[in-house]
Parts: sequence; C-alpha cells; structure tokens
Amino acid sequence: DVPVICIDGPTASGKGTLAVATAYQLGYHYLDSGSLYRVTGLAMRRAGLEADAAHEAQIAELARQLPLRFIKGQVLLDDEDVSDAIRTEAAGMDASRVSALPAVRAALLALQKSFRRLPGLVADGRDMGTVVFPDARLKVYLTANASQRAERRHKQLISKGIPATLDSLRADLEARDQRDSSRSVAPLKPAPDARLLDNSSQSVEQSVEQVLAWWQE
Ligand code: C5P
Repeated sequence: DVPVICIDGPTASGKGTLAVATAYQLGYHYLDSGSLYRVTGLAMRRAGLEADAAHEAQIAELARQLPLRFIKGQVLLDDEDVSDAIRTEAAGMDASRVSALPAVRAALLALQKSFRRLPGLVADGRDMGTVVFPDARLKVYLTANASQRAERRHKQLISKGIPATLDSLRADLEARDQRDSSRSVAPLKPAPDARLLDNSSQSVEQSVEQVLAWWQE
C-alpha cells in the first residue's frame, strides 16, 4: 500500500510550495495535479476549442492523450517546454473551465493515480483527498486569506518576469475559487477527514513541520 499525503485548497494558498517541501523531506514523489488541467487548457486553446459542453468529448480526448512529460521541474508538451505558458492567470482560468467538464476530470483520473509509486506520493490540487486518493492516510486542506494569496501569487509571477497587478490577481483568484467551489463535479471543499491548516501567518517551514507532525502521529 503506497502512502499518499493529499494537500488540497483554494488558488495560491501555497499548496505547491508545501507539497514540494514535504515530498522533499520524505523523499516522496510529487504530483501537481493542477498542471494537468493547465496543460489540457493549453491544448484546448491550441486546438481552437472552447471549454463548453459541446466540445467536452473532444477536450477529454485531448486530455486522455496528452503528450506530456515532467522533467527536472519542467513541463513538456510534445517536447516543448510549456512551464511558463501554463502559469499565467489566463491559463489558470482556462484550467478552471476545462476542469468543470466531467469527461475531462474522468480522462485525467488514471494519469493522476499512476503517480502513486513507492516510496510514497505528496499530491496537491482540489480533489486529491475527495476523489483521486480517497484512502489517503493524511489529507490536508490548506487555506490562507485572499489578500495573502494574491500577494504570494504576485511575487511568484513577478519573479518569473510575468507581468501582473495585485488587484486583478485577487479578482481572478476569487473568480476561480468561486467557479471551482460551485461546479457540479468534484467541487472544491475539504474531505470530511481532512485536517484544516490556515497558513496566513505561517512560514513555509512551520507548515511543513505541522504536516510532518500529523504524518508521524
Ligand atoms: O492548482 P492550480 O491553480 O494549478 O489549478 C488550476 C485549476 O485547475 C484550478 O483552478 C482548478 O479549477 C483545476 N484543478 C482541479 N482539480 C485539481 C487541480 C486543479 O479542478 N485537482
């Protein structure tokens, strides 16, 4: 039985940072499930499709056959490095739109489960604990207040040379959370057995320590 730690929560709550650091501490694999929806959104754009029910089957087919590889922190689509292209807020919105289509979620399920390999996995997303790995022994639901989240996302984008303003980021992330929480399939919400962690006034190290303490209980 391969151990899994799930870290779910709203946009820019610091899931990725926490999940990567926890995986590193434990020597586990890491799954950034959001990147799969982001790449699917990009593939949809490039195919000239819209994220609506009329194109659901076509987009699901794209998702099922993504020529995707993860190498040294890079995301490669058909050997093209799309790591930066999928990080923009527009790409986040497209990801959120395709992720509301049930056939797309179903198409990405097996790929996500395939990341569960020894010695273990830390997975971050919206439905890791509720849908993809419901039997995980530790599920963390990570939150932070909206202004903190906007500020963090802002720093992240600026450091990558991607232009962004705080106000529009905050509006975008609140719109995305709203869509993610109100969709009919796998809406964003804590699993019943999730531990709630608000990291608004915590350092990354403190959050990692908390997760490791729960893991060792
Ligand atoms: O985590 P990230 O911001 O990269 O995710 C992008 C979008 O993909 C989210 O807003 C959400 O709509 C979708 N997503 C999802 N389920 C996941 C991970 C991401 O629906 N497990």
